[in-house]
Amino acid sequence: MTQVPARCPQCDATMGLFSTVRHSRCSFCGCRFVVDWSDPATPRLTGFEDIIKSSPGVAPQIAAAHVRDLESAATSADAQIEASREQAKTAAEAHERKVRSAQRAIAAPQSRTLAAGMAAALVVFLVAFVLEDALWYVGLVLAALLVLLTRMAYRRWQGTESQALAGLEESRQVVQQAQNSLEESLAIQDDRRLEQELWQARAAAGSSGGASGT
Ligand SMILES: [Zn+2]
Repeated sequence: MTQVPARCPQCDATMGLFSTVRHSRCSFCGCRFVVDWSDPATPRLTGFEDIIKSSPGVAPQIAAAHVRDLESAATSADAQIEASREQAKTAAEAHERKVRSAQRAIAAPQSRTLAAGMAAALVVFLVAFVLEDALWYVGLVLAALLVLLTRMAYRRWQGTESQALAGLEESRQVVQQAQNSLEESLAIQDDRRLEQELWQARAAAGSSGGASGT
């Protein structure tokens, strides 16, 4: 399921290859290539042209049989791809809903903190510049209480926020996995199509007298 970094044999672009894929194409230059996984850490890529040039031509019947097999495998995989696509969509929507409910959960303690903080600031101002005598003492006690309340609300806000973010991280990973498996099944489907093209090209090279050297 992990992608292994590789370089395009034609334009040297870096790309990620699923280790389950044996035929792929560069998304930058369109070059089609075969992947040799004898060393799983550093796959060797060979362009179709080089393979067609260096391998003997293939009888059209043999190529046609391979193309048919690949075609029926591709057709039966289409349903699987549709299911993966649906799964990725569902995961993305669930994540979106979670983001919205996290925002709502955070909003309440956040606005309470803000309100308590503003009230505390106001009373502190009154104590410092306005109130006198007995009222000054009352104000002082009130200010202390409001500061305490603000700190409590702030802690509650932070707690809610970190809890909500942890929940989001989980659902983000679900989305990531679903997208990854969709990408992989698309890459495998592309693999089959490209292998078909390679068989057809080899058959064509064989029937046209092929390796006469160019
Ligand atoms: Zn390329």
